[in-house]
Order: sequence, then structure tokens, then C-alpha cells
Amino acid sequence: MDLGHRRIQVTVANVAHEIVATEGIACAERTPWARRVQLAVELVDELTTRGEISLTSLAGLGVGIVGPVPSERAGLVREALGARFGVRLFVDNNTRLAALAEATWGAGTGAESVLYLRLSYGVGGGLVLGGRLLAGAGGAAGELGHISVDRDGPPCSCGGRGCLELYLSNLVDAHGGFDNLSRSAITDVATRVGEVLASACNTVNPEVVVVGGELTGAGEELFRPLRAALRGYTHTQVHRSLRVAQAELGYDAAARGGIALVLTNPPEEAEWRRTSCS
Ligand SMILES: [Zn+2]
Repeated sequence: MDLGHRRIQVTVANVAHEIVATEGIACAERTPWARRVQLAVELVDELTTRGEISLTSLAGLGVGIVGPVPSERAGLVREALGARFGVRLFVDNNTRLAALAEATWGAGTGAESVLYLRLSYGVGGGLVLGGRLLAGAGGAAGELGHISVDRDGPPCSCGGRGCLELYLSNLVDAHGGFDNLSRSAITDVATRVGEVLASACNTVNPEVVVVGGELTGAGEELFRPLRAALRGYTHTQVHRSLRVAQAELGYDAAARGGIALVLTNPPEEAEWRRTSCS
């Protein structure tokens, strides 16, 4: 499941790891979290009835939510869905789950290490190493949107200043949407994104950088200056082994990532995570 800002998505995979059903609905940004859970459960009922899918042997449920995990919101979602389904349950940030999905089924398939960045109304990321999603000590690994691109910039909700996420959202607002960005605005943001990615790449030395989100609709106007900035600010050895790719998965990326999270966590470990994260 993906309980996103503006959309709820449910995707079902069978025992052979094939996607057998997927469906999403739009929801208002202010929809309370208890209501989002309810909508997702209704979507499960609808999908399983329509597709004649039995959940009696359901192996697990992976859920993506907006914001950090662990959190109060994550606890609420965990409790409500745990009571409803009674199976192994994982809750993680939905951008991180999209990263895992891209590494498993999308643009990063087959790579040992994948760094994912989503350039949308929010900017987030995720790091997948050896097929496993990195959560980090505080559950905030891959928060690339909160790397500062302007130390004197406006304060951010994260406690920092001039974060990439703020920079991008202010730019998009000033132009009236992603589709109206001028070429020079796209070049400017691509350069800043490239600099942020370069720092992350020098730290991790990933095989693939996958970039997704609305801004990638600009195509090569975005990717050309982004690659140039990456080339300019990464160690030669880091850059030589690096591939930059556009994300391949669509609306159901985070929901698919939820499935991948269940599949990559054996049952004993799930028990541990459930107690440590609640
Ligand atoms: Zn921030």
C-alpha cells in the first residue's frame, strides 16, 4: 500500500512475485490518516472481490506513508492495519519504498547499489544496497531533499536552512507549476540537484542514480545539466562507474516497494522490526 499525499494505491503480488492487481484513488491532501487507512482497506476489498483474489494466505503487508518512520503516524497506520489483516507488517517512508521498487523492478534492476532521488512537490530519496533498503539509525536515510543548497536560505521544517526541497518548491510556485518552468530555471535546478547528488555519490559510490518525480518530465533539459554537474563534482573513480537513469515505475512504485520490503525481510526479522519500530 502507498498512503501518499494525494493518492492511495494498493498493489497485490502473488506467490510467484507477479503483480496480479493494482488500483489507486486520488485523495485530498488534508485527508486524516485514519481515513486514508480506511480508504486503502476499502480498495483492498474492491480489488480482491473484482479479481477473485483470496487473502487467506497473505504473507505480509508493506505500507508506504508520507514523512519519517518511526513516528506517531506510522504507529497509527501499523495498529489499524495490523488489527485488520493480522499479518507481517512493514511501514516505511513512501519515497524510500519507491527507491526499493526502482532497484527491484525499475531503472536500477540488477545494480548492487542504487541511489534514488524524487523531484516532486516534495523532494526525497532512498538508498538501496545489495537489494536492501537503508533506513538509517533514526529512519531518515536518503533525505536528499534536506541537503542545503543555500546556507542563507529560508528556514525549513526539518530544522535546516535553504534545503533543496524548499528551493525547488519555491521555484515551481514562482513559475506556476512544473510544466511552466523556463529552460534557464530547469538548468539552474538541475545544477543544484547535480551538486547534491555528487556529494551523496562521493559518499556511497553507487552504481546507478535513479531520478524520478514530476521534474523529470523536462527530459534532457534536466538530465544534461544534471549529468554535467555530477561529472564536475564527483571523484573520477566514482563518476566512471556511475550510470544516471530516469525512474521507470509510475503511480504504483511505492506500493510495489512495499511488496519488495516484505519479500526482502525474512519472517524472524519482521518480528524484530515490528517490536523495534512500534
Ligand atoms: Zn529541510
